[in-house]
Amino acid sequence: MIKVEKLNKSFGNLHVLKDIDMTVKDSEVVCLIGASGSGKSTLLRCLNYLEFKDSGLVIIGGEQIEKETHDLNKVRARVGMVFQHFNLFPHKTVIENVIEAPIYVKKISKEKAIIEAKALLKKVGLSDKENVYPSKLSGGQKQRVAIARALAMKPEIMLFDEPTSALDPELVGEVLATMKELAEEGMTMIVVTHEMGFAREVADWAVYMHEGRIVEVGHPKELFSNPKEKRTKNFLDSVL
Ligand code: ADP
Ligand code: MG
Repeated sequence: MIKVEKLNKSFGNLHVLKDIDMTVKDSEVVCLIGASGSGKSTLLRCLNYLEFKDSGLVIIGGEQIEKETHDLNKVRARVGMVFQHFNLFPHKTVIENVIEAPIYVKKISKEKAIIEAKALLKKVGLSDKENVYPSKLSGGQKQRVAIARALAMKPEIMLFDEPTSALDPELVGEVLATMKELAEEGMTMIVVTHEMGFAREVADWAVYMHEGRIVEVGHPKELFSNPKEKRTKNFLDSVL
């Protein structure tokens, strides 16, 4: 579904991603862990072209994506992203947030967009909030709207960048539950998270990144309890 080969990215002199190789198959859930600054967000942003790689390949659904040859709005529609800080439009209601991109990027009719948005809001348990503004929602509700908004583009893959890190602890569970449901429905997902319980339960495999490199890959249960690399062990000792 998504394949990355020898991906490199620098910001000026700072070499942030170093020869990243990764293949995520259809319906797999991958958790990406690593210290702050290790390059996790940059990797996700390179996968949906919010950032441009310097070299290497990104292959989505068998198709090699290059910014010169592809309509990046279409690529971003195929690769949905959910951010730590929700990034909802504050001046739009919940349902307006969800229908915006399908109407303006995918050019579907407003009527159809509304029908689909209502179904998605029902799925994330927010049918009663359709006409409310984001400022009236809890963090967990905002994040579930953000998930519905990403799903409205019918992405092939969903990227989650620390989706629960900005939430009060009591709101984390509802967002993880929504993500788990999505995983069970077969969505291909890459999730940056330090929620080890979620990773153990939902992820097919986990990736540990350190200073821009993938240091270790394994089944979460195996990687978390029995890391082979000293750097992985040190990191896990610091977060567990
Ligand atoms: P992580 O998500 O693992 O915390 P990031 O991918 O956000 O790591 O950042 C990796 C490194 O790249 C950090 O040193 C960060 O400061 C730097 N970085 C990220 N984005 C930019 C940018 N737009 N310009 C310059 N440096 C950046
Ligand atoms: Mg980050």
